[in-house]
Amino acid sequence: MTPSATEQTGFALIPMVAKVLAACGFVLMFTVLSWMLNQHQAFGLGTLFGSLAGSLIAGTILLAGYVYGDARRRGMPPGAWTALAVLIPNGLGFVLYFLLRKPLVCICPACGRSVSMDSAFCPSCGRAMARA
Ligand SMILES: [Zn+2]
Repeated sequence: MTPSATEQTGFALIPMVAKVLAACGFVLMFTVLSWMLNQHQAFGLGTLFGSLAGSLIAGTILLAGYVYGDARRRGMPPGAWTALAVLIPNGLGFVLYFLLRKPLVCICPACGRSVSMDSAFCPSCGRAMARA
């Protein structure tokens, strides 16, 4: 079996654009907040809140990126699930995603469609799937 999206785990699953966005979000949040709060003679407070808020933003973006990559390899619409996970407040969208996500799928070597791990044959072309 050739390396595919199915075999990626954890951090490798997060799209590059999400990692870059997370880094930018952190830097932006940190810079703006520490500048704003340090203006008001609260030196140190701005740095503290800046890094807290920056980590929060970066963490959310990375988690959204993970949901995107994970939904894609499970044959679920990645854009819709990422939007849902991000838009439902208090992290409930992410909880919902991890509760409702489908089991892992593998890619049919013959036709390239995603096939659930427990099926013996590809439903679209009928090729026998290799058992793990
Ligand atoms: Zn097939």
